[in-house]
Amino acid sequence: NAEAALYRAKELGHQNFQFHTGEMNARSLARMTLENHLRHALERQELVVYYQPKASLSSGAVVGMEALLRWHSPELGVVPPDTFIPLAEETGLILPIGAWVLKTACAQNRAWRDAGIPSPPVAVNLSPRQFRQHDIAAVVAQVLVETGLEPHLLELEITEGMVMQDATRVTAVLGELKQMGLTLAMDDFGTGYSSLGYLKRFPFDKLKIDKSFVRDITRDPDSAAIAKAVIAMAHSLHLKVIAEGVETQGQLNYLQSQGCDEIQGYFLSKPVPAAEFERLLAEQRQLTVHEPGAVCPEK
Ligand code: C2E
Ligand code: MG
Ligand code: MG
Ligand code: MG
Repeated sequence: NAEAALYRAKELGHQNFQFHTGEMNARSLARMTLENHLRHALERQELVVYYQPKASLSSGAVVGMEALLRWHSPELGVVPPDTFIPLAEETGLILPIGAWVLKTACAQNRAWRDAGIPSPPVAVNLSPRQFRQHDIAAVVAQVLVETGLEPHLLELEITEGMVMQDATRVTAVLGELKQMGLTLAMDDFGTGYSSLGYLKRFPFDKLKIDKSFVRDITRDPDSAAIAKAVIAMAHSLHLKVIAEGVETQGQLNYLQSQGCDEIQGYFLSKPVPAAEFERLLAEQRQLTVHEPGAVCPEK
């Protein structure tokens, strides 16, 4: 069986050709199945954009949202983005899929505004491959024109890895996006190089502290120290700081005490479908903000 085959292969000293047994075949079969289904997911309307609110730690109000892709496959069930986004990236399917997410999120926000619902700016994740597209700024501009969303209501989340190569091109592209009036956020900060240099060199407006630090913030002094340092550093560069993955009052209290600007996480709300997000806006869901150290969620 696969396990025995894997064991034998390991014994033979990691010679790759030894993996041509059950294990590899099962894995590549699963991958091919996933890929085949993903190819049709867009046209079969199996992709759905969810929205997760972001709240200000000074006012408690919902001041933003992140568009997060979900795949509801009739054959495979709900496939999490961490499974299919990397595959979409490898196969290039991320280009049509990413463009669709961008358009859907912008169109939804424009529709809310047209309906008199004061929706806050929406953040959309860009993948490395999307970002490498030579005309990415034009693609974004086109979506804004088509949907009629004002540029200041669109934010793009970009990870550090994406700005590490070809500084000349990255400077030009980010400059163009900034010039259009968009907001730029560096996502997952702390997981990569966490370089001050990139933050200084490029026109980012915001930094998102990765949830892996937030998770341990109240238990692990190192995580707390990192979050504290990142907030101070970002502020010294005039960047706003948002913490992702906030699940508890304790985490929130610590972040507030360090002057973090915004939070996003299950403590406020999970990512939800558009209709549910609309309800959340209608009820004016917010965090009750008292003095630092006393913030409570309001139902
Ligand atoms: P991300 O951009 O860092 O998004 C934040 C992730 O944290 C989301 O996972 C969100 O559901 C999750 N999260 C939010 N609050 C909490 C919390 O309190 N606790 C925990 N444990 N998790 C929380 P999700 O939706 O599964 O997405 C995972 C990643 O997939 C995203 O990470 C992003 O890198 C990627 N992704 C999602 N949608 C898109 C998309 O439309 N395009 C691209 N290129 N990537 C996407
Ligand atoms: Mg993100
Ligand atoms: Mg993130
Ligand atoms: Mg992430």
